[in-house]
Amino acid sequence: MQTVNRSHHDVVVVGARVAGSATAMLLARLGHDVAVVDQASLPSDTVSTHSIARSGVVQLVRWGLLDEVLDSGAPAIRQVTFNAGAESVSRTIKHKAGVDLVVAPRRYVLDTILATAAARTGADVRQGVTVTGVQRDGRGRAVGVYGHDRAGAPVELGARWVVGADGMGSGVARSVGATINEVRQADGAAQYAYYTGIPWTGFEFFVAPRSFAGVFPTNGGQACIWVCNPAADARAVRRRTRSRVEAFDQLLERSAPPLAERLRQARRTSPVHGMLRQPNQVRQAFGPGWALVGDAGYYRDAITAYGISDAFHHAELLAVALDQALRADAPATAALGRYQEQRDQALREVFELTCRLAAYPPVPTFIELQKQLGAAIDKQAAALAARPIPGKCLLATA
Ligand SMILES: Cc1cc2nc3c(=O)[nH]c(=O)nc-3n(C[C@H](O)[C@H](O)[C@H](O)COP(=O)(O)OP(=O)(O)OC[C@H]3O[C@@H](n4cnc5c(N)ncnc54)[C@H](O)[C@@H]3O)c2cc1C
Repeated sequence: MQTVNRSHHDVVVVGARVAGSATAMLLARLGHDVAVVDQASLPSDTVSTHSIARSGVVQLVRWGLLDEVLDSGAPAIRQVTFNAGAESVSRTIKHKAGVDLVVAPRRYVLDTILATAAARTGADVRQGVTVTGVQRDGRGRAVGVYGHDRAGAPVELGARWVVGADGMGSGVARSVGATINEVRQADGAAQYAYYTGIPWTGFEFFVAPRSFAGVFPTNGGQACIWVCNPAADARAVRRRTRSRVEAFDQLLERSAPPLAERLRQARRTSPVHGMLRQPNQVRQAFGPGWALVGDAGYYRDAITAYGISDAFHHAELLAVALDQALRADAPATAALGRYQEQRDQALREVFELTCRLAAYPPVPTFIELQKQLGAAIDKQAAALAARPIPGKCLLATA
C-alpha cells in the first residue's frame, strides 16, 4: 500500500498554464490557500502559437509580469504589417490602455513565468501530478481532486473549490458533468513551425482566399510561422503530400508566397505542430464547488490568436468571484453566477468575430472583420486597464 499524499486548501486548480497559474497567482495574492497541479513539468511547451494581444499585455502590466516576459528575450513588437495580394500596410502599435507593444513569448517561457509568480505569492505549485477524478460529498458538491504523482503514488487534494484549468479536453469538466452551452462550426485548422536565420521586423499577417498566415517573432531570435485554413483544405493538402512538413510548405506557398520565398533563406528548427480541427464552444462556467477557466470553459478557433488573452481576463474574473465566495462577501452562487455572466459577456464579441473569420469569407470581408477585431480588443484592453488590481492592497501592506 502506498501512502496517500493528502492536503486541504481553499482552492485547488487543475492545470498550471496561462489560465490555471494566473488564477492561482491572483487567489494567492488575495490571501487564499491555493494549490495548482499539472501533469506536465514546466518549462515545457504546449500546442499553441503565442501572440498576446493588447488586452493580454495589459494584464501582464497590471500583474507586474511584463518586464519578466520581455527580459526572457521575447521581443517587444511595435510594428504590424498586413499583406493582401500586392498590397502591404505597416502600422506602429499605438499607445493605448497604457501599452504600446504586443509580444509573443514561447509558451515554455510564459507558462513558467506565471507558475513561478504563483509559487512566489504562496501558491502550492505541484508539477507531475495527474488528476484522475473530482471528489464529491454526499450532496454532490465538488470537495477536491484525486490522482497520482509521477511515481504513481496517490495524491488527494481537498478544497472548498475545485477549478478546472485543464484545457480543451478538460477532465474536470467531464467529471463534474459541465454542460456545453453553445457549440458552433468547427472547421478551422491552424499549423505552425519555428524558423531562425533571417531578421524579423514585427508581426506580419498574410490574407488570401481561404487562408491566413503570419509571423510571430519570439525568443531566441526565432519566429513562429503559422498558417490557418479551412480544415478541409488542410486535410486535402495533407492527403496528397508525404509529410506534415511538405503539407505545411505547400499551404504557406499558396497562402503567403512572399513569406514562403523569404523562408528559403531561413532554417526550420522544429517539427510542424497544430490542430486540424478546432472546436468553437462555451461550457457552463461553474457548479456546486467547481468552476472552469481558460480553454476548459471556452474554446475558440486560433484564427484570432486570443486564447491566452481570454485566459488572463477570465482568470481574473474567476479569482475575484472565488474571493467573494470564500470570504462570504457574497453568496457563492451569486458570486460565481456573476463570473459566468461576466465571462460570457466578455467573450461574446471576439467569439462572434472568430466564428465569422474561421468561415473564411471573401478577402475584403475578412479584412473588415480583422479591423473589427482590433477595435474589440482595444475596447477590452481599455476596460481591463480601468479595473482595480486584485490583491494590490494586500501586496502593498505585505
Ligand atoms: C494551434 C494553436 C495556436 C494558438 N495560437 C494562439 C495565439 O497565438 N495566441 C493566443 O492567445 N492563443 C492561441 N491559442 C490558444 C491557446 O493556446 C489556449 O487558449 C491556451 O493555451 C489556453 O490555456 P489554458 O491554461 O486554459 O489551457 P492549456 O494551455 O491547454 O493548459 C492546460 C494544462 O492542464 C494540464 N492538465 C490537463 N489535464 C490534466 C490532468 N488530468 N491532471 C493534471 N493536469 C492536467 C495540461 O498538462 C496543461 O498543462 C492557440 C491554440 C492552438 C491550438
